[in-house]
Amino acid sequence: MTSIATPSDVIAAVGRVVGDEARPLALHEPLFQGNENAYVKSCIDEGWVSSVGGFVTRFEHELADYCNAAHAVVMVNGTCAIHAALLCVGVKPDDEVLIPALTFVATANAVMHAGAVPHFVEVEETSLGVDPLALREYLDRIGLRKNGQTINKVTGRVIRALMPVHIFGHPCQMGQLSAIANDWHLELVEDATEALGSQQDGKPVGFRHTAVLSFNGNKIITTGGGGAVITQSSAIYQRLKHLTTTAKLPHAWAFMHDEVAYNYRMPNINAALGCAQLEQLEHFVAAKRALASAYMQAFSGMPGMRVLPSPPGTQSNYWLVTLLADHANESWLNTTLQALQDAGLMCRPVWQPLHLQPMYRHHPRSDLCLTESLAQRIISLPSSVKLGLPLLPAAQP
Ligand SMILES: *Cc1c(COP(=O)(O)O)cnc(C)c1O
Repeated sequence: MTSIATPSDVIAAVGRVVGDEARPLALHEPLFQGNENAYVKSCIDEGWVSSVGGFVTRFEHELADYCNAAHAVVMVNGTCAIHAALLCVGVKPDDEVLIPALTFVATANAVMHAGAVPHFVEVEETSLGVDPLALREYLDRIGLRKNGQTINKVTGRVIRALMPVHIFGHPCQMGQLSAIANDWHLELVEDATEALGSQQDGKPVGFRHTAVLSFNGNKIITTGGGGAVITQSSAIYQRLKHLTTTAKLPHAWAFMHDEVAYNYRMPNINAALGCAQLEQLEHFVAAKRALASAYMQAFSGMPGMRVLPSPPGTQSNYWLVTLLADHANESWLNTTLQALQDAGLMCRPVWQPLHLQPMYRHHPRSDLCLTESLAQRIISLPSSVKLGLPLLPAAQP
């Protein structure tokens, strides 16, 4: 048996970082200390709370700027945004979309909403994201290039797209994954719902392709509920705008629509919250990075585990700080999670891998050994922005 720190060692280390913050201490909670009240109040005072209003376009412009993207389209939540993004890059019913099994269920659900089939692929330990080496090997084995498309030799379906997920804010190896997408004629959509504020090669994640963000209440910034697609393509942008606003044709008064579409547009009152939160994003990211380094220090030298650092060449937003055990040990995981819970520290395991959930049990998949092992090795630590703020060099009063 390899040695691993006890649950009380883990509780003590977390306690050294979070100090005397009131228990129970949430895994992640939002923080409103900027213009949230003023902007939301102005929506109510002026009556622009719904699908028309200045904050929607303002939030889209500021978001696109922040992400170095040409365009952003904001929507009611991240799941809808993934759905819309997949439709707009050309995913069709019965196509397969390659995604990790180690992700939140929404990634796969959105693929299903598009009528397509989630096809699960293996991840790697450095980023917890899709493993480029394993993916290349797997596609060489099951993929067949035909008429500019890739056919799954096992199922006979077209593999249309690859959607890597930047888990907990840690960017995947996008350079290599883009190359694979190119070689295999795959559309590339990044599920960057957890990674707003993360960088790769000094640039914001999602800047090169089409990527999806979420502003759910537990993400790094929130609009209550909300999501967005950012893209460099003006064709995809036009298509997104049309499809998410009931495919209404522009006209001064007539209601004419040219296809069955969606009401996915973000309301103005949510966008108001988003504008106020985005103004504080850099500060939030700095706080989270400070929190992550405090956890790294607290856990350094503790046997059998480490806090997962940003993958090489990237800077994570540390949306959730991840404690990673060296080896899978389900009983240690459960005992430790229970002890943390009893101590008022709301830590969480990673999601149950999707191929083990009943609705996805029979879906196509590669070997998922590491995915299954990681599912028993991860504990997400309390990661609210407020825990990192006092650690910043020039902490605000
Ligand atoms: C949050 C999240 C989503 C979905 O976002 P919602 O806004 O909650 O619909 C999708 N994928 C991942 C990986 C997420 O963490």
